[in-house]
Amino acid sequence: MSIELRGVLKNFGDFALGPIDLAVASGERVAVVGPSGSGKSTLLRIVAGLTAPDGGRVYIDGVDVTDVEPWRRGVGMVFQSPALFPSMTVLENVAEPLLSRGVGRGEAFSRAREVLERLGLARLAHRYPAQLSRGQQQRVSIARALAAEPRVLLFDEPLTALDIPLRGEVLPYIYEASRGRTVLYVTHDFEEATYIAERVVVLMEGRVAADGGAVELFENPPNPRVAEFLGYSN
Ligand code: ADP
Ligand code: MG
Repeated sequence: MSIELRGVLKNFGDFALGPIDLAVASGERVAVVGPSGSGKSTLLRIVAGLTAPDGGRVYIDGVDVTDVEPWRRGVGMVFQSPALFPSMTVLENVAEPLLSRGVGRGEAFSRAREVLERLGLARLAHRYPAQLSRGQQQRVSIARALAAEPRVLLFDEPLTALDIPLRGEVLPYIYEASRGRTVLYVTHDFEEATYIAERVVVLMEGRVAADGGAVELFENPPNPRVAEFLGYSN
């Protein structure tokens, strides 16, 4: 499913996002990078339907979803911190988005088991979040985002809260989950961006400052601010 933002605006008073025009083709993986406070999370939350824009429209697969509830958008989102329900088992956590969409218990649990299997988490199905490592918790969050088989996946710095060895554990699962899907992947790590995505959008002060192939951008940044952010000193 494609994603398209047309003239998207959000105003928080001391910070304004946009206007953002951005088109992501079906099956394309795009990394969104930029300094802290540049509007990356806000942009993702607008696509997910968790934040309403003040202007502009959001299209998914050509359909205007600007006023559509998050759970009807066919979008899965993984946040920086694994936000699991502590009183539910892993299996119940993963089944929860299906149950809340009205899928029957039998089917919801069998689909949740399937997703856990795929992410190598089946043996943790009956544990509680507190009994898992942070890396395992984040893998369960990925499983939960995949439970409803979304064709659009949004990741908001999914490795940032993890220790470096755990990042190496979780990244391959993100890669696996991303295959065949349309992905927006927010990170401030350029290397991580190039691992996941072929295209990189650089956000600065709420605007798109650069947009292009990962290698091309790195080798030929469009302006000194982007160059500096990407780690060059021209
Ligand atoms: P990033 O993810 O790139 O760090 P954010 O999208 O989280 O950036 O935030 C961009 C700016 O918008 C920041 O200055 C932040 O303080 C502000 N902001 C984000 N969410 C809200 C909110 N709900 N209310 C007020 N200001 C917000
Ligand atoms: Mg953020």
